[in-house]
Amino acid sequence: MDRVTIDVSGKINLALDICEKRADGYHELRSVMQSVGLSDRITIEKTEEPAVKVSCTDPAVPCDERNLAHRAASILREACGLREGVRISIEKAIPVAGGMAGGSADGAGVLAGMNALFSLGFSEDELRSFASLLGSDVPFLVSGGTALALGRGEIIRILPDAPKYAVLLGNPGTHLSTPEVFRAIDEGNADGHPDVEALVSAIFAGGRTKREAAENVAGKLGNNMERAAVKLEPKIGSIRGALKENGARSVLLSGSGPTVFGLFFTKKERNEAAKTLRKTCPDFQWIETETVTRGIRIR
Ligand code: C5P
Repeated sequence: MDRVTIDVSGKINLALDICEKRADGYHELRSVMQSVGLSDRITIEKTEEPAVKVSCTDPAVPCDERNLAHRAASILREACGLREGVRISIEKAIPVAGGMAGGSADGAGVLAGMNALFSLGFSEDELRSFASLLGSDVPFLVSGGTALALGRGEIIRILPDAPKYAVLLGNPGTHLSTPEVFRAIDEGNADGHPDVEALVSAIFAGGRTKREAAENVAGKLGNNMERAAVKLEPKIGSIRGALKENGARSVLLSGSGPTVFGLFFTKKERNEAAKTLRKTCPDFQWIETETVTRGIRIR
């Protein structure tokens, strides 16, 4: 095998609780992360030239060492003493700097893809150790599904699959810098702490019917970065309101934003909302997707 193609999912945070700032500058957090179907497609080819080359369909994405896909490939080449190089092509679909871990997903996809391409034999736990060198969100994305993230985000406890939702993403088309949103939190702009335990309990409990389980979980979402993110990008507030008015059962900022997601119980409700919102709020990008139980699909 000389080439592999991987679809790697973006994530939304069903809960995100930013806690105290640590001595290393990171913040302790507790988050319930959830994969969605919206994915980047990554193709990795072996090359005789002993180097890492990255290309991307989105010209806004850097293709040098700043790209986590590039760094992931270099880490594995070095750790395993690989003589050959790789050519990595990224077809971007996850919004860039949108709070959905698009760059981190590409790093996770390259770890999983090279593991398969070079038959390296690493377990998911071993891949997660490499992933934590790349960034706080990357360890979750190596497996995806539904998981509780602790520490700075790198400690992963896999949870039972959350109920399935149809999802509508709203993006203002602007970028938010994660460190800037964290700085706004440090300056006193955090919301109250969401009840992450209640959400995790609801995911474990399920319900008598699928609908009851979906209602219970959707009623317990929370993200205490919202106020800080809205302060930096007020359009987040407009997207939030528009999703609520158009029937979303629950609406929340994803990560540090600016993408906002709405959960719907049926695809029909979600599609109707998307149709209306494209007419009434054409300045925002609206993306239909759904929750999924695996984050990485090797094709
Ligand atoms: O880990 P990652 O490189 O994705 O983090 C990007 C930035 O987000 C960090 O430099 C830090 O400013 C902030 N961050 C944080 N606490 C976390 C995760 C990220 O302060 N738990």
